[in-house]
Amino acid sequence: MNGALFLLTVNFLIAQLFCAFFLVIARRSRVPAAGRWFAAAFAVASFSAIFEVAIRYADYDRFASFGAFSSLLGALLMIRVGLGRLYAVPSSVMTMTAILGASLTLNLLIYDLPRGTLYHSLGYQLPFIVAELISAAAIYRSGRRETADITLIALLLFTALHFVSKIYFAIIFVGGRTAETYLSSTYALVSQSLGAVLVVSTGLTLLAVIVVEIMDDAKASSEIDPLSGLFNRRGFNDRVNQILARPIAAYPHCVVLCDLDHFKTVNDTYGHAAGDEVIVALGRMLKEQAPPEAICARFGGEEFAVFLPSTGETTGYLFAQGLRTTFSSLVFAGLPEHLRLTASFGVCVLASATVPISDAIDRADGALYDAKKGGRNRVNRARHPTAISFEEWQARA
Ligand code: GH3
Ligand code: MG
Ligand code: MG
Repeated sequence: MNGALFLLTVNFLIAQLFCAFFLVIARRSRVPAAGRWFAAAFAVASFSAIFEVAIRYADYDRFASFGAFSSLLGALLMIRVGLGRLYAVPSSVMTMTAILGASLTLNLLIYDLPRGTLYHSLGYQLPFIVAELISAAAIYRSGRRETADITLIALLLFTALHFVSKIYFAIIFVGGRTAETYLSSTYALVSQSLGAVLVVSTGLTLLAVIVVEIMDDAKASSEIDPLSGLFNRRGFNDRVNQILARPIAAYPHCVVLCDLDHFKTVNDTYGHAAGDEVIVALGRMLKEQAPPEAICARFGGEEFAVFLPSTGETTGYLFAQGLRTTFSSLVFAGLPEHLRLTASFGVCVLASATVPISDAIDRADGALYDAKKGGRNRVNRARHPTAISFEEWQARA
């Protein structure tokens, strides 16, 4: 087995392996169609290697050469379709069909031109260059700029450049006057080696993009409360700590806690599903009323929290009063039209970086407890942490 043939076999096996990887990973992905398109692309690409071997051993020279070309081009266009799904930049069926049709026609037209001439090489490589460029352009248009995305754009552009260089090298090395002699040339060896490296790199980067997406989704779903769509306590703590860790955090920040009044009665009287509607409505109201930089969460049950960055106590208090008033006027699906519900609130400021968030939450909870004791449907502010009772002061003195 000569070098080029060996590399073709390796290319074939690698493409098949990637096909299997993508099929497995597609099932876990948010956009399984993208992974399936990539799997199909690698399956089709592997045929290109078989056709290249057939060029050497079979008599159907023209057929094999056309097959090698069309399977590689088909694979590259399938990658463009898959990227369209993954990056939400759909490919137009018309454009894809036009590129495919024009490219296949061009390939048939140039077949009888001698290899190693500019016209033959250009006509052969141009469709590949176009396919790589439209894929890179699709990712660029998506606006996503994670490391894996940029790597992918760079790889696609490099692969396009590789196809451009093939035009030049085909002319320099005069790759062989016929398709059969092509395989035994040094040029074929160089070209196939670089091809293998690019296939592996592209495959791995595509896999990385999908894996990163799956991991991001898993992290997001572990931080989001499915009923209200707000952050859960873990997501809340994560986001708040990110804000607190900023080098220039403008204090004070404000924490508002909220608990529905007599919610157990709602569940007992109108059913758990109606109760859920109330939780959904409160979640929606918080998202609508909170400023964009606020972090809204459902801590569990019928208890909610809002973190207002760079907000003083008075603003936080007025914000909570606004929530209280709006909530007490809401009408809920599944509940009688005349029924109005109320909620109680506790407000606390985080005055400096020395106070942990858990401390502010505890004090807001204390204020909320006072609001409940005070008759519900009210907003209470936390007592100032430095304010101590006369007896405490005496005990310390
Ligand atoms: P209070 O005014 O003192 O807060 O009274 P309450 O009835 O609201 O408080 P309590 O803590 O006694 O009851 C809370 C209820 O919240 C009990 C439980 O059935 C209900 N609850 C907790 N989680 C959910 C949920 O996800 N869906 C629904 N529908 N109800 C929930
Ligand atoms: Mg309650
Ligand atoms: Mg409660």
